[in-house]
Amino acid sequence: MKYVSTRGQAPSLDFQGVTLAGLASDGGLYVPETWPQFSADEIAAMAGLPYAKLAQTIMLPFVGDCLTPERLLELCEQAYGRFAHAAVTPLKQLDETQWVLELFHGPTLAFKDVALQLLGLLFEEFLARGDEHITIVGATSGDTGSAAIDAVAGRAKVDIFMLHPHGRVSDVQRRQMTTVIAPNVHNIAIEGSFDDAQAMVKRMFNDAAMTSRFGIAAVNSINWARLMAQVVYYFYAALQLGAPHRKVGFSVPTGNFGDVFAGYVAAKMGLPIERLIVATNINDILHRALSTGDYSASTVTPTAAPSMDIQVSSNFERLLFDGCGRDGAAMAAQMKQFETTKAMQLTNAQRESAAALFSSARADAGQMANAMRWAHEACGEVLDPHTAIGLHAARTAEGIAAGVPIVTLATAHPAKFVDAVERATGVRPGLPARVGDLFEREERYDRLPGDYDAVAAYVAERATLKNG
Ligand SMILES: *Cc1c(COP(=O)(O)O)cnc(C)c1O
Repeated sequence: MKYVSTRGQAPSLDFQGVTLAGLASDGGLYVPETWPQFSADEIAAMAGLPYAKLAQTIMLPFVGDCLTPERLLELCEQAYGRFAHAAVTPLKQLDETQWVLELFHGPTLAFKDVALQLLGLLFEEFLARGDEHITIVGATSGDTGSAAIDAVAGRAKVDIFMLHPHGRVSDVQRRQMTTVIAPNVHNIAIEGSFDDAQAMVKRMFNDAAMTSRFGIAAVNSINWARLMAQVVYYFYAALQLGAPHRKVGFSVPTGNFGDVFAGYVAAKMGLPIERLIVATNINDILHRALSTGDYSASTVTPTAAPSMDIQVSSNFERLLFDGCGRDGAAMAAQMKQFETTKAMQLTNAQRESAAALFSSARADAGQMANAMRWAHEACGEVLDPHTAIGLHAARTAEGIAAGVPIVTLATAHPAKFVDAVERATGVRPGLPARVGDLFEREERYDRLPGDYDAVAAYVAERATLKNG
């Protein structure tokens, strides 16, 4: 399998290349040259597979000959063996239509673990083949940081620099990052929003002075391997609900458009998905883009669902690329305009192709709390704020045929956001034992101004050169 950039200029790479790369050198994102397909019979034959085996089956066409099938299975078994639930991502029923897929049984309590536990192993596998050293630079609105740090702490040939917006992540989220005292882990609290931090990371990927010295790699969902790993649980859930003989809808609490894009990939591969519902909080650029075609960023308003407090959704570019007939030059022009004006209009072709599969909905604080209360009072399930936004969107979705089950992706454990959960439901969920003595441990992080040069100098001082 070859991967091409959404902006049409960067050289194509194989799976190992895109795993170790950050942004493509033309500023675009890598996508597979073609979407692999499974027939209905092939999908039917996947029913009942254990999670790791299903993961191997779905991912093999993307991996190509960069790993043997046996090695890929071993890595999947190792990654998913660290999950605290034997089903890895268990599916729970709420009522006759609504289901939740619990994606938070990994080490750091958010769905990011599903992809990052595997990505950490892929980095180690591929780096062992050469002399290169990589420097991971990432921005987090809370959950990516802890999941990425857990996945690479103490591993050889990798340094990680993780930027989080100071004061805008929860205490649990911050401590899950800052209490990991491994010499290759560097936490930076940035003055500013997640979007400011993400913009600095993107600038570093495009900064030749940095990329010529350091092997700058990505753990944000601009990294293709992450999206690939997330495709698996769409199949896993749908198979349990009767796919390929029955269609299923999904509602996805969305920020950077990575998770829901994985659902789009599942549909492209042949999984019969009725609808993908993009659920946003009041930071609703995606809801506006999908409902009116207007993709224009405004300022971020902090909410109780901080992992969705995003205005610029990097992975949306991957969808727009398909929606314009994979015209890299047109995409480059469109994104360049967005980067200068912070606004763009989707073309008719992009709007129509998105509307064929995607719907969207936005939940404010009251709607989010109501969804949490309903799940708790009517179904006995305690949900986190992000999942509650997804459930609100699922329960208010229009245009979904009767009898089609809707699966809301439960993206975080409620204990990660205890205060908001307690306010809505009166229940204060406890941290699972696997998190340990998080509040007793020493924290380590540095605070930097929201200034690119300061961050670049900090990284350059501490990172290991590309060639050792
Ligand atoms: C990251 C995250 C999201 C958003 O996922 P994207 O792939 O960025 O759209 C939603 N909920 C939680 C809890 C998250 O950690």
